This record gives sequence, structure tokens and C-alpha cells, in this order.
Amino acid sequence: MKIMVLNLGSTSFKYKLFEMDQGEKELSSGGVENIGNAVSAYRIRSPRDIRGEAPCPKHEDAFALCLKLMIEEKVLSSMEELSAIGYKAVHGGSLSGAHVVDDEVLTQMDAHVSFAPAHNPMYLRMMRSMRSLYPTLPQVACFETAFHANQPEYRAVYGVPYEWKEKYGVRRYGFHGSSHSYIAWKMGQDAPHCRRIVNCHLGGSSSLCAIQDGKSVAASMGATPQSGLFHNNRVGDFDVFCLPVLVEKLGGLEPVMKALSSQSGFLGLSGVSNDMRDVMNAADEGNQQAQLALDAFADNIVGYIGMYTAYMGGLDAVVFTGGIGTNSAAFRKIVCDKLSFVNAKVDPALNVRGHEGKVSSADSGVEVWALETNEELMVARGTKQCLGL
Ligand code: ADP
Repeated sequence: MKIMVLNLGSTSFKYKLFEMDQGEKELSSGGVENIGNAVSAYRIRSPRDIRGEAPCPKHEDAFALCLKLMIEEKVLSSMEELSAIGYKAVHGGSLSGAHVVDDEVLTQMDAHVSFAPAHNPMYLRMMRSMRSLYPTLPQVACFETAFHANQPEYRAVYGVPYEWKEKYGVRRYGFHGSSHSYIAWKMGQDAPHCRRIVNCHLGGSSSLCAIQDGKSVAASMGATPQSGLFHNNRVGDFDVFCLPVLVEKLGGLEPVMKALSSQSGFLGLSGVSNDMRDVMNAADEGNQQAQLALDAFADNIVGYIGMYTAYMGGLDAVVFTGGIGTNSAAFRKIVCDKLSFVNAKVDPALNVRGHEGKVSSADSGVEVWALETNEELMVARGTKQCLGL
């Protein structure tokens, strides 16, 4: 049984193809970047590594290109061989978990476009297009909010009029659920003695999750994936009472929202780049704004870890994942050096780029891990389960 998982960003398309019958084998993965530009870069591994450039005006074109390459590479004979498509869908409001993509799912996702403007529209377009192209192919939306759905109500509410929760869906949902649930599962396999974990998913988007006994008990993102820690170019948590001031100064809500969702975060604060690598290099060269962005990000992470340690009544492990968390040994050390309250220590020999597993020293007060996430695998599992395959 072959399941293809789709992961869509505003200008990126990523996929993984799994054989889910005999174990869980990844047959192919890849994607397309810079969708909408004159040419887009693609890369697929199946397992041969193929790279190139092609015009891909829309996500649907990126899908068609990857499908063609997979068929040429003989990992898939045709679309008929697919049992299902699973989506790492973002916001469905009160719809959580895995759902067959039907009119109700599309309506709910449509209703939450304003909550996830960088994500929901692409998914909606792709789902509608796939439904019309392949009407008999089951499609499943696995929502990023699912892993956090059972947090206690007192942790999910904002201090706003209570009826806003029911009427407008204004509450904390938490996101990155596929990644956090993968780490919860993986740590359950590799380090079952670690019962209280803070997982730091740090990448283009970043979020932290407190995982107790395999379950999410707190998450840093709230009603929207723009919140919590700041991101590559999005604001993170912000005082809403600045809005009237900014609306007046910038001449309307639209430019303010645009700045908060695309010119903020690392990019806005550092003034250098939305890429952590550039910010770290600039800080090394003495750029003070870049250093400030780095310090603020690390400080924010440490604050969440402290809060989550209090929520869980202790801490057994900190896990780093996502593009920054997995690849930057330097940033893991920066954070761990600030976790003196739990005496976290990374082992210099283990804490190197590319190492997968435990990176803490024997005398560390908590375990520190670096793990590559596998969000798509969790979506494939959710899809299989949802369809009863
Ligand atoms: P997304 O949230 O879009 O899925 P990723 O988790 O793939 O993003 O993370 C991408 C980000 O990871 C890049 O923007 C870059 O800032 C960061 N990154 C990748 N490699 C490194 C590295 N070696 N050091 C620091 N940051 C890195």
C-alpha cells in the first residue's frame, strides 16, 4: 500500500512516498522550491538523487513534475498504484486529527484561512485540484493541531470574552503536531525513561512542545502558526495593543499585518536575513542587531523550557529538531549553556553537526538530544489509520 504525503509551504512543495504494508519504507522524497518564479528548483530522491530546474507556476505543477519523475524512476507505476494522499494540513479550527477530505473539511479550512494565511490557501487549492483530477483517490487531511488537542482547557484559553472561543475559534491550538508527535514517538522508542521532554522544533517556523508521558501538555504556538517564538520572518507573540499605534503610523491594518507576517522575526530584528545561518555569521562578525536577534531567540526558548519544566514538575530531556535544531550544534550549545537551572551540558564530541541521537555529556542534569524529525511519516500513519487500510 503506497501513501504519498504532501507538505506545502507558500512557495514550496515537499512530498514523501511510503510503502506502508511491509513495515514503513520511504520509497521516495523530494520537492520543489521557489514555486511561482520563472524557474523552480526541484530535487527528488528515489533513491537516486535527481536535481534540476523547471517552470512551476503553481503547486499543482510541482506535484505533476514530481509524479512524472517518480514514474520515470519506477518507484510508482501510475497514480492508480497510490492508495491515498495524506496532507500535513494546518488549520481546520475545531476539526482536529485525521479526516477524509470532503466538503466539510474544505469548508472548515476555508473558514480558517485568516488564521493560517501562509498555509491554508495552498492546501485548499491542491485538495480541490486533486479531487477533480483523481475523484476516486482517497485524500486525508492530518491537522497540525491534532497532537495538542487534549491539553487542559485552562491552558488552551486566552483571557478574552469566553464566547469568542466558541463563536470565533479564538483559542490556543498549537501547531507542528506531526513533528512533535514524531519526536514523542521516537523518544518513546529510544529513551523511554525520559518521561518529561521539551521538544524544540526550530526551523523556518519554530515551536516548543512539552511532552509528558508521550502526550502534548503545552505548546508555544497559539491560535495561529504566527505566534509563540518568533520565526524566520513572522512575528511570534506580540502585544496586540501596539496595533492601533502601528495602524496609524503605517497607514492601515494591511501594511501592519504584512510587516508582522513577512518582515519580522529573524529578518526584521536582525536586519540581515531570515536564515539563521546568515544571522549567526553576521553575529560572529560583530553585527549587534544580529547578535540581539540570536540572544532574544535563545532567551525565549530558555523561558519556555523553564515554564514547561514547571508545568511538568521536572525535566528529563530537551530535544532539538527542525532545520536549526538538527543542523546547528552551535545553537544547541547556546541554549544548553543557558539552562544552568537543570545543569544541561552538551558533550563537545557528540554535539556536532549531523549527529543523530543523544548529545549531552554523562554529567548533564538532563539528557539533550538532536533528532531529525519525520512529520510525513506521522501523516502517512494517520492517513492509513483514518482510512482503515
Ligand atoms: P521549515 O520550518 O520551513 O520546514 P526547516 O525546518 O527546514 O524549515 O528549517 C529551515 C531553516 O533551518 C533555514 O531557514 C535555516 O535558517 C535553518 N538552518 C538550516 N541549516 C542550518 C545550520 N547549519 N545552522 C543554522 N541554521 C540552519
